[in-house]
Amino acid sequence: MNKIETTISGSLPKPNWIASTGKLWSPWKLSADALELGKLSATQSAVQDQLKAGLSIITDGEQSRQHFVTTFIENLSGVNFKKRKIVRIRDRYDASVPTVVGPVSRKKPVFIKFAKFLRNLSSKPIKFSLPGPMTMVDTLYDNFYKSREKLAWRFAEVLNEEAKELEKAGVDYIQFDEPAFNVFFDEVRDWGIETLERAAKNLRSKTVVHICYGYGIKANNDWKKTLGSEWRQYEKIFPLLNKSKIDQISLECMNSKVPLDLLSLLKNKKILAGVIDVATNKVETPKKIFELIKKITHFVKPKQLSCCTNCGMITLPPKIAQRKMESMVQGAKLAERYLF
Ligand code: ZN
Repeated sequence: MNKIETTISGSLPKPNWIASTGKLWSPWKLSADALELGKLSATQSAVQDQLKAGLSIITDGEQSRQHFVTTFIENLSGVNFKKRKIVRIRDRYDASVPTVVGPVSRKKPVFIKFAKFLRNLSSKPIKFSLPGPMTMVDTLYDNFYKSREKLAWRFAEVLNEEAKELEKAGVDYIQFDEPAFNVFFDEVRDWGIETLERAAKNLRSKTVVHICYGYGIKANNDWKKTLGSEWRQYEKIFPLLNKSKIDQISLECMNSKVPLDLLSLLKNKKILAGVIDVATNKVETPKKIFELIKKITHFVKPKQLSCCTNCGMITLPPKIAQRKMESMVQGAKLAERYLF
């Protein structure tokens, strides 16, 4: 029988002994060797939780990173974390960010240790996430390249080095997170897709791009309130993504205002449809998920569909996140029986 694969699109809640549970970007409560061991132990329980829920593609639940962009950048040379500037992020909110002060390069592998650890914990396919070049550029103050495009090309090369090593470590799916893609449409067209493809160049692993409207931050929620009853921003980027070399597109569908008919603009791609709302503690019933999948298949061939969460689940209580994963698996099974 054909299968609708299930996975999470990003983070899982962190255990309270390593960082405050339920908070975005919460500081580590451990340091040095204890922190490194703690990250492995947290990864191990995140994997157990996903296996228990029955997901088909397993991730590290982002247990080894404090922030989906800056944790990667911390490991690069050329960026000074002590020199901080307030910049406008995603054209939406101000944040204190590190400064690019010289040529950017990857001093050492960033997540490879965790990818190898993850590989040993499960015989199921595994997925690992990296930030996308445009989102990285948009989370920094650049005082060296003085060009968002030039900096993005440099980040793309550095990301590709890391991605190739992730592949060597046995990672089956490499995901790039590009929430900046639904804000800077001209840049997506001019260099966003190309730099993303550079980051994914010559990989045998399947490549994924996760786009979304942003969750867990008040400024994002306020912005979304101004977008009206239909969010059509993706209409501008889907035709470009459809022509790109990236294999799969991950986006939010459950309770989102993205019109599902826009998915028909991605005919060449596998769709990782978000069927779990990460902005509410209410657990979706398998039936509700099944109904959504049925609607999605008006625009996506069942064979080209997988299920995931709308975005990361770090802000949810752990028990709720677990029940949401279990519901997703059950909902996907109902859909399998109906569709195949
Ligand atoms: Zn997201």
